[in-house]
Amino acid sequence: MLNQKNIRNFCIISHVDHGKSTLADRFLELTGAVEQREMRKQYLDTMDLEREKGITIKLQPVRMEYNNYILNLIDTPGHVDFTYEVSRSLAAVEGAILLVDASQGIQAQTLANLHLAQDPSTNSGQDKVIIPVINKIDLSHAQVKESVKELSQLLKIDEKSILRISAKQSINIEQVLKEVIEKIPAPKGNTKDPLRALIFDSVYDSYKGVVAFVRVVDGQVKAGDKIEMKASKAQTDVIEVGVFKPQLDKTDMLQAGEVAYIATGLKNLDQCRVGDTIISINAKTESLSGYKEIRPVVFASFYPAEIDNHDLLKDSLARLKLSDAALQYEPESCEGLGRGFRCGFLGMLHLEIVLERLKREYNLNLVVTSPSVSYQVIDKKQKSFIVSSPEDLPEPNQIKEIKEPWVDLEIIVPNQYLGQVMKLLEDIRNEYKDTQYLSPERVLVKYQAPLNEIIIDFYDKLKNTTSGYASMSYEVADYRSADLVKLDILIAGERTEAFARIIHKQRLDKEARALVKRLKEIIPKQLFAVALQAAVGGKVIARETISAMRKDVTGYLYGGDYTRKKKLLEKQKKGKKKMKAIGKVNIPQEVFLKVLRK
Ligand code: GDP
Ligand code: MG
Repeated sequence: MLNQKNIRNFCIISHVDHGKSTLADRFLELTGAVEQREMRKQYLDTMDLEREKGITIKLQPVRMEYNNYILNLIDTPGHVDFTYEVSRSLAAVEGAILLVDASQGIQAQTLANLHLAQDPSTNSGQDKVIIPVINKIDLSHAQVKESVKELSQLLKIDEKSILRISAKQSINIEQVLKEVIEKIPAPKGNTKDPLRALIFDSVYDSYKGVVAFVRVVDGQVKAGDKIEMKASKAQTDVIEVGVFKPQLDKTDMLQAGEVAYIATGLKNLDQCRVGDTIISINAKTESLSGYKEIRPVVFASFYPAEIDNHDLLKDSLARLKLSDAALQYEPESCEGLGRGFRCGFLGMLHLEIVLERLKREYNLNLVVTSPSVSYQVIDKKQKSFIVSSPEDLPEPNQIKEIKEPWVDLEIIVPNQYLGQVMKLLEDIRNEYKDTQYLSPERVLVKYQAPLNEIIIDFYDKLKNTTSGYASMSYEVADYRSADLVKLDILIAGERTEAFARIIHKQRLDKEARALVKRLKEIIPKQLFAVALQAAVGGKVIARETISAMRKDVTGYLYGGDYTRKKKLLEKQKKGKKKMKAIGKVNIPQEVFLKVLRK
């Protein structure tokens, strides 16, 4: 029987690319959790998309054995769009390795993730033990001393207590594991108490149903046990229990303190939600505190490019949501595009990843509408409601006030680039808050700014003007009144909702002109000239024209070669199926995506 004293549960948190997954690789080797011949770089990045992009998107638990200890590690993503994965990982463990790249120093997500670990509302009142580690000491341009100093000041600890390692060159890895065992406390649940297990993630398996990733807090559970999901009240028999190796590995029983999985056999995806507590059937056990509700910040609608695929899209979103707890969606329909879904995301990268996964994993081609933040609208009758789609914005004469979300923005940047950052901020509406020096060379500047102004491409611009040295994070702070209007796009006289957007009056002319110009570049020529217009409340403020295509496809086949002509027309018809007919104009699916990417 497992002794809880010999269990350590921890995760690795850091800014993106500071070496979390590589450090996890070294742990897997050192503990022999993965056989040498099966080892590959960033082993815990199991999704194809993660491997291609070289980033971690999903949390990934793995169980290792070392010197009679069971070590349950959860590797986490570092990108700001995936912090929900980090906060859920943190809820399942007692401590975290805070990793800092010695060539970069503390970055915006280092701070954001540290704050998550220290936030009482995400750690159920129990402080996580933080193990600070400086990584990449092998790099010739590593600034080990400076990074150690920054980190010791941030955490208010002695410089000597900070480990210096190279995950790549395998330097001092064993020390990290020893500290994990020494400093992180063993779990304190009671094996004899009634079952309580917190669901922190899930996947779907066609045989085992919803497989819940859990932290068993109290009690025990095994296959055949009757269990209940406390919030959804769904009851079921446990099909199988097991641990992460990191693939699912069946065991006889789980008990208090373990990070493991329970295959529930449930097919209905709503019955087993992340954040819910699994208890014994009909038990009066209290639920564990779940997670802060996560609020999407960007919204866009997805429509199937082929109308017949509506049900496929519906099922795919439901499946995807199981392994992406931050994804939100609801049905919507729109003239010209048919039936689709309004989806909420944690940022643009999140949106892109979901789109890409729908395409790869579910073979879905989609039309995507312009991304938008959500607005608070107060109408003339004093009714207040949230609008997250330009289409839902009432006519201007019905609106008393529109409020938009503002964020707390934190930027960390070397001194010499501070000027560029301030210049970049001049282009957007903002409110300066504070400057703090992390070291004589690096500063943390704090601003507030409208989410709308930073969500699309501010991060790219920031990276560009600072040669990649600046990093940023943001969090929605409040809603503020703003002068906003809806910009309509008319293609050949037809209003095209997919391209409509809500814009600040200050930016209206510039954006309207840029948008019609962009559309002119990417919409292919048609057999006739096509007018592109940007309008506000029926008044056209910018226009472009796409000139007509010179020939039609069969035009050069003079002289009645009927079969070839028919073939060509057939081919053209097939091509058209993949397009969206907007009025008389056919718009290929890529256009919708290209407009997003700018
Ligand atoms: P993550 O985003 O924090 O998971 O970072 P990864 O583990 O994916 O590593 C990001 C990049 O840093 C990869 O190219 C790694 O090879 C590299 N890297 C990680 N650790 C070290 C290290 O100790 N030294 C050097 N030179 N490179 C490292
Ligand atoms: Mg990673």
